[in-house]
Amino acid sequence: MDAALRPIERKIEEDVPLTIEDGLTLYRTPDIHNLGRIARAAKERKTGKNVYYVLNRYINSTNVCYAGCKFCSFAVDEFKDREHVVRMTADHVFAQAIATGTNFNQIHIVGGHDPRQLSLDYWVPLMRRFKEELPHVQLSLFTAAELEYMAKRHRLSFPQIVAELKAAGLDNVNGGGAEIFAEETRKKICPNKVSSESWLAIHEELHRQGIASNATMLYGHVESLEDRVDHLVRLRESQDRSPGYNAFIPLAFHPDGNELNDCGPTTGLDDVRTFAVARLMLHNFDHVKAYWMIQGLKVCQVALHFGADDMDGTHGSTDEEMIYHSAGTQSGQYVDDREFRRLIEEAGFVPVRRNSTYDTFPHDWAPPAAAREAVGEAVGAL
Ligand code: SF4
Repeated sequence: MDAALRPIERKIEEDVPLTIEDGLTLYRTPDIHNLGRIARAAKERKTGKNVYYVLNRYINSTNVCYAGCKFCSFAVDEFKDREHVVRMTADHVFAQAIATGTNFNQIHIVGGHDPRQLSLDYWVPLMRRFKEELPHVQLSLFTAAELEYMAKRHRLSFPQIVAELKAAGLDNVNGGGAEIFAEETRKKICPNKVSSESWLAIHEELHRQGIASNATMLYGHVESLEDRVDHLVRLRESQDRSPGYNAFIPLAFHPDGNELNDCGPTTGLDDVRTFAVARLMLHNFDHVKAYWMIQGLKVCQVALHFGADDMDGTHGSTDEEMIYHSAGTQSGQYVDDREFRRLIEEAGFVPVRRNSTYDTFPHDWAPPAAAREAVGEAVGAL
């Protein structure tokens, strides 16, 4: 065993927060097997043998955006690239959500900073409709970047925009937009996006008002290892100040069709190492998610032995994910729940169905008949 890991392992067993230096040691150790062992033990102290998945619908409701992030392959200019614009009406979003039925527990929607869609006038009625017709479905909507855009647009403070969306039924905010918090690096990759300080402030406000959220880190582009560890420490401190993050999700950079193409894709070892370091640095996060759309099902299955305890969701079969598919991911659009259970069980863990806030369900749970009938009527009326 790498001797440098021993004192770190002792700290982890005593639940002492790791330092930046510890994080760099974890990233640099050649002893990948013991790194995985320590991270898996930390995961099992939190959630035992459970590994979570969700039956969900994933939709990118608009790809119009003017933020100009250098790593983005998804956004289009509605005037220069008309034929590639996707801008769904609220009815279209609802119809996509229920295209393959009602047996899902989460609707996950993110999109660009689209001046014609990212407003309370569009979202509040749509959110209310989801809550009325599909009360068993949790709304996992927006990122902090989208919330900041909407707050500015309506001249509302962060507490005010959060209160408006909470009243409309928001359950959870997605973890995107965090990218890398280190300001110098952030300026290079997304100078027009929500600042690190505002990203953290918005999530802390969400938690104060009782709305859960997740957090991400985009890695594998121009950032340094120091940037990555700094990012994790800032998240850990944010969770201490205002608890409410459920899961941390490492997002591997994908290079196709964007300005950071020279950085190339991440490697499998960098991916699993990042899951392990995240699990060990974020001792106050319950869940680390291996999101199959990003690193692929095979790496994500291995990540369960490097501290991950969640594989995200089925996504529905509506071909809607565009952010990673525009950037070259080889993952498909849909994984059914039987496949999640097979992969999780083969890795030696227990598959557990959940919703956004980690309430759990039997695998064969189904929504009440009333929801199915209401949606049947809604589909007929579209
Ligand atoms: S990453 Fe998001 S905010 Fe940045 S350009 Fe793409 S869609 Fe816009």
